[in-house]
Amino acid sequence: MSILFDWFMNFEAADWLGIALQIVLVYFFVLWAALVIWVARDVVARTKNIAFHVVAILLIIFLNFFGLLIYLILRPQKTLAESYYESLEQKVLGEEEEHCPSCQHDLPLSFHYCPRCGTEARTPCKKCKKLVSKDWQACAHCGAKQGTKA
Ligand SMILES: [Zn+2]
Ligand SMILES: [Zn+2]
Repeated sequence: MSILFDWFMNFEAADWLGIALQIVLVYFFVLWAALVIWVARDVVARTKNIAFHVVAILLIIFLNFFGLLIYLILRPQKTLAESYYESLEQKVLGEEEEHCPSCQHDLPLSFHYCPRCGTEARTPCKKCKKLVSKDWQACAHCGAKQGTKA
């Protein structure tokens, strides 16, 4: 116990400074490594561009916080998963929601006339006679090309 006490008492101020400096260095190194890992994961989630990955990681390695700042400004706004779900959402909405060309009322694909205003929203296919929306280039049921006017 007394040995430990002696050791403690004999410590010079310079030694404490050295230890504090080491702790600070280790702290910054860990922070730096964490930043590099975070950016590497973030950039891979946002773009498939390998050149962008490399530039982003080099920015952090060499410029640290300034690099992070530059990266945050330049990085793509959305992650790949976000853009994927957004495009999926648009696709689903586009497929399921058609609207009456004159009053914009929702129009299920089986309707021929708009139930609200009576506009003829779809015409029968020239070949199979099933209903085809007026902006379709080809019949969705038999594939027959639909001219602008029959
Ligand atoms: Zn209508
Ligand atoms: Zn058809």
